[in-house]
Amino acid sequence: MTARFTGKVALVTGGGSGIGRATARAFAKEGATVVVAGRGADALTRTVALIEQDGGRASAVPADVSSAADVARLVATAVDRHGGLHVAFNNAGILETGALTDMDEHAWDRQLAINVTGVFLSMKHEITHMRAHGGGVIVNTASNLGAHLRLPNLAAYAASKAAVSALTRAAAREYAADGVRIDAISPGPVETSMTLLPGESHAERAERMKSMTPLGRLGTPDEIASAVLWLASPEAGFAVGHDLVLDGGASA
Ligand code: NAD
Repeated sequence: MTARFTGKVALVTGGGSGIGRATARAFAKEGATVVVAGRGADALTRTVALIEQDGGRASAVPADVSSAADVARLVATAVDRHGGLHVAFNNAGILETGALTDMDEHAWDRQLAINVTGVFLSMKHEITHMRAHGGGVIVNTASNLGAHLRLPNLAAYAASKAAVSALTRAAAREYAADGVRIDAISPGPVETSMTLLPGESHAERAERMKSMTPLGRLGTPDEIASAVLWLASPEAGFAVGHDLVLDGGASA
């Protein structure tokens, strides 16, 4: 097995489930010491346990990415505990559904606070540390819906993810010369709790999602994780401000 991240410290937000958990495990399998952050302490502890079962190293930091104080504490804790921060995967996110005309401003604010302000705050503290300590790599989770929205009732989510893509490009240009390389991923539908309707079985979801991609299926968290690891690795050294679409051809 290759170990592209030996000696590196990798921070993963939203690391207690789905894409974040799969990516945290993948980083650890390739030698990184992983800090998993998110809102649910039990879920984070479970991710750490899975990584330790795999023979990897990880620790958990409960944090709300929409809180400036939490994110400052998160980055400082990662650095204090493990002696540095080399890779960050800003992946925490939520999905608010509803027609714009029915959506109250609290749901709108929550959508932007977590998906957009969360990425802004995370990058602010990560970049500040990385540029002062020899550089680093950041990957943000956007979505294919940010650029190609074919579904109703997702305007707020689509707007938030378009903002993540724009923020990624702007920050990538601004900090490339400081040795901080920044990219994004834009997944399509993935097998996580985010795509599961209340009460729906995995088989029912698979049937409902069949027509969403030319491949006729959802992506797996592991497929997304492999792409994140590639972007975060030196193999992707010339990818700057790139938004890697991983959607089974949905937006092709
Ligand atoms: P998920 O719900 O399993 O993961 C989201 C994670 O973010 C959870 O662990 C949750 O606890 C965490 N989180 C939510 N609000 C937070 C906050 N304020 N502070 C810290 N952590 C918080 O679903 P997922 O599919 O793994 O989602 C991961 C990312 O991928 C999200 O940004 C999502 O928008 C994006 N995405 C998902 C899909 C999909 O189809 N599943 C497609 C495109 C993009």
